[in-house]
Amino acid sequence: MFHLNKLSLKPVADMPGVLARAVPAALQARTYADHQIPDRLKDIPNAENPKFFNMIEYFFHRSCQIAEDKLVEEIGRRSKMTIEERRKKVKGILMMMEPCDHILETTFPLKRDSGDYEMITGYRAQHSTHRTPCKGGIRFSMDVSRDEVKALSALMTFKCACVDVPFGGAKAGIKIDPKKYSEHELEKITRRFTLELAKKGFIGPGVDVPAPDMGTGEREMSWIADTFAKTIGHLDINAHACVTGKPINQGGIHGRISATGRGVFHGLENFINEANYMSMIGTTPGWGGKTFIVQGFGNVGLHSMRYLHRAGATCIGVIEHDGSIYNPEGIDPKALEDYRLDNGTIVGFPGAQPYEGENLMFEPCDIFIPAAIEKVINKDNAGRIQAKIIAEAANGPTTPAADKILIERNILVIPDLYINAGGVTVSFFEWLKNLNHVSYGRLTFKYERESNYHLLESVQESLERRFGRVGGRIPVTPSEAFNKKIAGASEKDIVHSGLDYTMERSARAIMKTAMKFNLGLDLRTAAYVNSVEKIFTTYSEAGLAF
Ligand code: NAD
Repeated sequence: MFHLNKLSLKPVADMPGVLARAVPAALQARTYADHQIPDRLKDIPNAENPKFFNMIEYFFHRSCQIAEDKLVEEIGRRSKMTIEERRKKVKGILMMMEPCDHILETTFPLKRDSGDYEMITGYRAQHSTHRTPCKGGIRFSMDVSRDEVKALSALMTFKCACVDVPFGGAKAGIKIDPKKYSEHELEKITRRFTLELAKKGFIGPGVDVPAPDMGTGEREMSWIADTFAKTIGHLDINAHACVTGKPINQGGIHGRISATGRGVFHGLENFINEANYMSMIGTTPGWGGKTFIVQGFGNVGLHSMRYLHRAGATCIGVIEHDGSIYNPEGIDPKALEDYRLDNGTIVGFPGAQPYEGENLMFEPCDIFIPAAIEKVINKDNAGRIQAKIIAEAANGPTTPAADKILIERNILVIPDLYINAGGVTVSFFEWLKNLNHVSYGRLTFKYERESNYHLLESVQESLERRFGRVGGRIPVTPSEAFNKKIAGASEKDIVHSGLDYTMERSARAIMKTAMKFNLGLDLRTAAYVNSVEKIFTTYSEAGLAF
């Protein structure tokens, strides 16, 4: 029996609506497999190197196999449609969810510092505009392609729905290796790309809002905001909400840089503390004694490592594109970060040994965190992974064939659309802050502090009235914990608790669905089912579909 409801300590199986729901007679004869996976995706569950967009389409269809009957059942509750009409409507809406709504491909010239010219190609895919703005990062990488941005934008649609961020999904990429360009050249590329997006309606606070991803960070987001605000957005008071992940002085929010890593930590914690999940994979709950290996020591990898280390887990290895390091005694994240800042690489770090084996990701550990690129766990190597838990901090690190192997091998895969959603969640908070034009807490700090002091004073006066002041005044002093919170929640407090709450609530929803449909360790399908149901409701109730 699962015990998932932390607040009420109610087993999920006892929650209303779980397992007990009666299926109407007209639907009883159908099986989940009635939802057809399109022929063009039939090979995906066995493919060695599937196209990335096909992978996401396949995961989507797999969840439709579970969700379709329930959607048909529910859509009928408030309508007089026949079963056949309902089925057609459900199929129609599911069909609308699959393709990308819009894709922009743009090529523009760059005059390099050397005087040479080069053509630069970039893409922005808006997968879904069922809610606007649509949202998703911009990456700079030589692997960028039309297929990759399409896939990543689709994943963003399901990710936003998974964690209840009311946005559609989008993604952008520029096909460059950022290490090969000067800062001046990168600024020219970023600003020109922003103008191309703006001209075509692919950026704007209510339309489409990019964020950082691989190879980009606060600096690029600042150039984007500035370019938009000084050109097409110059009359728009909300212009700076056209992008998130900005530096604080440009309208950014505390905690955005580390948000994805912090979300990875919370996401893992929600499952690691679940005794039933841990016993299903043959381990014990809690962080103590757990070891982990991280692939990719960039923004997401570094911050995931920091938070896991702080919780008491031991990082025994880090994999980077130019080498891997290993230390069974543990690697210190701060020392490694400092070393990388000074040397531009993790290779040669004195707090670990260079890893000489075939691939560090095959070494035994409790948690493997892919935090770099897609498809790193595939049909060829999934059988060799010895971790008990895989936390998909990167987007799309596991192919469908590998996913199947991992589930069969009793490895708990915590899927990307949930576990790396901390970034988009805090981006949502930043966007709200920009629309409000005031930072969280600014209007209430002084008032809250004063009312809390009044409260203490009033307690003191009541005590003195009751007991007198025989031995002197009765001091009522705030405890250390209360003193820290006496002025109410700061922006940082709100971001941290908002993120923690989001990750916990979504984890419980995923567990509940996994339990309800008897999905065992297949959390990916459970997460997709939840997202599909929410997006479906938006289409269905907004009357967008027909
Ligand atoms: P980043 O550019 O900051 O870091 C990526 C790191 O991975 C770099 O250090 C790079 O050298 C390393 N790397 C590249 N190829 C590698 C390989 N083959 N093996 C090992 N290491 C390799 O990027 P990031 O923002 O940390 O993003 C990493 C992943 O997380 C991406 O899949 C991204 O889409 C995903 N993600 C990022 C965010 C975010 O907020 N930045 C949010 C959600 C998901």
